[in-house]
Amino acid sequence: MARIDITDIEMARSRIAGRVLRTPLVPAGPLSRELGVEVALKPEFLQETGSFKLRGATNAMLSLDAATRARGVVTASSGNHGPALACAANRLGVSSTICLSEMVPENKIANVRANGGTPRVEGRDYAESLDICMGLVRDQGMHLVHPFDDPMVASGAGTIGLELAEDGEGLDCVLVPLSGGGLLAGIATAVKARASGIRVIGVSMERGASMLASLQAGKPVDVQELETVADALGGNIGLDNQWTFETVRDLVDDCVSVSEDQIMDAMRLLFRAQGLMVEGAGAVGIAALMSGAVQTKGRAACVLSGRNIAPETFLDILSTQEGSA
Ligand SMILES: *Cc1c(COP(=O)(O)O)cnc(C)c1O
Repeated sequence: MARIDITDIEMARSRIAGRVLRTPLVPAGPLSRELGVEVALKPEFLQETGSFKLRGATNAMLSLDAATRARGVVTASSGNHGPALACAANRLGVSSTICLSEMVPENKIANVRANGGTPRVEGRDYAESLDICMGLVRDQGMHLVHPFDDPMVASGAGTIGLELAEDGEGLDCVLVPLSGGGLLAGIATAVKARASGIRVIGVSMERGASMLASLQAGKPVDVQELETVADALGGNIGLDNQWTFETVRDLVDDCVSVSEDQIMDAMRLLFRAQGLMVEGAGAVGIAALMSGAVQTKGRAACVLSGRNIAPETFLDILSTQEGSA
């Protein structure tokens, strides 16, 4: 069985040190009072490209040899791995091609360009953009850096778990946004090795949650990708999933889902209580606490995984009344 371990994550940490922020674990007083549970926030949206994905992309890029770098890198992205890979590649003088489907919001495509990558917008959903990406690997010899099902990418994301284990004295649980599962597999690997008392919980949106369907089926299954305010969580884990499915199945304490309304309520609350703008995918942990999908007796940490939402979309959500949508 393919598994990353704590050594991979320690190595990732030393590789990416100085290139990626070590984020603090921030107590959130106003939010905690609103929710009636003590909440701490891991602000991964502060990373250079606006999401935690810079950790995995940087770890993957730094571990490539010169000959591989010279071929250029390619990926398919639901919108945040793309800019992160573009940024990590660009810093090393490596060219990057980022395949994005027509479901990816315009601001995320612009974020690829702003970070020095070449976006290629084609395909109806993530699955089709991944097919196009694999074609470039086959025909042009570019190197694939998969958005989640790659040990270097998951190990890079796992450095968040090391930091949580160090800073999270007395935590009852950590809530982690879940799509392909690189973030959750990485964090679970680190937390279970270093602070096994902390429960690790994955949170997906109800609409098109591939990992949840796969866990239920006992093997990777495909679901249809649907429009969701948590657009960064769209896409399948892959029928040929190598790294994330088994790790999530074996190490994670629980996985839950939240509705679109609950995610938007969480975004409004994060803004109102803490003055924070996060994208839908970044708010699902708060949504799970608000909705009661996750019950906690002690302190909960939420990974706020990204902030890349178009300002006009965010303002629309803010101006809709809480709980009314
Ligand atoms: C990619 C992403 C996730 C989920 O990461 P996976 O490793 O695919 O599970 C969560 N939040 C944001 C903002 C993302 O971009």
